Amino acid sequence: MDITAAQLVDEELKHLLKSNLTSLTLKQQYFFFEDITLTCDVSTNVSRPFIPKDYRKIVFQHLHGLSHPGIAAFTKLATQCFVWPNIRPDIKARINSCHPCQKIQDP
Ligand SMILES: [Zn+2]
Repeated sequence: MDITAAQLVDEELKHLLKSNLTSLTLKQQYFFFEDITLTCDVSTNVSRPFIPKDYRKIVFQHLHGLSHPGIAAFTKLATQCFVWPNIRPDIKARINSCHPCQKIQDP
C-alpha cells in the first residue's frame, strides 16, 4: 500500500477531516517530483504531509537513520516535516526505546 492509499484508509485522518477538532489545516497537496497527492497540514509556510499510522515507524527510522540525534533535535526535525496526532509523545516513546539516543542529554 502506498502512502496515498494509506492516508485514505487512516482512521485518525478520516476522523480529523470530519471533526474539525484540530489546529491543523488539512488540504490536498500535489507533489510534482513524487507525482502523488497527499493530505498535508498547510497551517505553516511548509506543507507537512499527514503520516498514516502504518508509516510512522518507517518515517521514524528513515529520519532517525544512524545519526541518533536525541529527543530534542529529532522532535524538531520531525515536526518541521510531518504531522500526525500526538507526534511529540509518540516520538518521545520511540526515542526512549533507542539506546544510543539516551546518551544524548536534552538541554
Ligand atoms: Zn537513536
